[in-house]
Amino acid sequence: MPKLYLVGIGPGSTELIAPMAVRALENSDIIMGYEKYTELIEKLVRSRSIESGPVTGELERAKKAIEYVLEGKTVAIISSGDSGIYGMAGIVIEFIAAHHYDIDIQIVPGITALNSAGSLLGVPFMNDFCSISLSDRLTPENDIIKRIEAAAKGDFVTALYNPVSSRRTELIKKAREIMLKYRDTDTPVGIVRNAYRDGQEVSISTLGNFLDIPMDMFTIVIIGNSGTYKYGKYMITPRNYTNKYEL
Ligand code: SAH
Repeated sequence: MPKLYLVGIGPGSTELIAPMAVRALENSDIIMGYEKYTELIEKLVRSRSIESGPVTGELERAKKAIEYVLEGKTVAIISSGDSGIYGMAGIVIEFIAAHHYDIDIQIVPGITALNSAGSLLGVPFMNDFCSISLSDRLTPENDIIKRIEAAAKGDFVTALYNPVSSRRTELIKKAREIMLKYRDTDTPVGIVRNAYRDGQEVSISTLGNFLDIPMDMFTIVIIGNSGTYKYGKYMITPRNYTNKYEL
């Protein structure tokens, strides 16, 4: 029975790909994905047929993968991080649901950018957090702003995926302004670029100053809550042990 695997390959390092994901790739006749990510797994699966495409080609890729599966081939579509978090699993399953295809699917989880960045920054996510993508390609800007406002007001530690693109550089400035209505200018902000990949850069700045740090589409921004502090190279969001114990 042919199968469609939706595989998260983690942040980039082959050491952070789950063995279950590697097995799914090995079982596949064809592996499909955005070219940046197929490059990352080429070493692992040299003998497989790999089809790379542009980052915005996700609908075409989903349709093509489904066609292959209906022809009897087993296909893996890869996403960076987790396939179910701003990844390819969404469009594929929506498309299958819309057309009522009977296809055997397996989603293999991956380590999402938020986990990877968190581990490099210390313990920023030790209390309640949320993630917001600043990409307005599929979500209207007003909805994004509404969610930033809610996150700020609720004092959630906030991970911002897709903070900037070559075309979209203003929304991150608006996000900062909104956060500053509720949080101090010295609230720690972690900026991680290319986590666990070549060119990794990790910085801890503040809500006041973090826009000085270069960001691109391989960067994630982590804004601390009102209790987050910096200790050496760590960003610490307290779990509130001190309410109960003396440390
Ligand atoms: N499915 C992916 C997210 C895809 S959206 C996941 O679960 O991680 C793409 C965004 O993810 C990027 O703009 C960036 O904000 C973030 N991202 C993905 N990989 C990253 C990495 N290695 N380092 C830092 N940010 C990363």
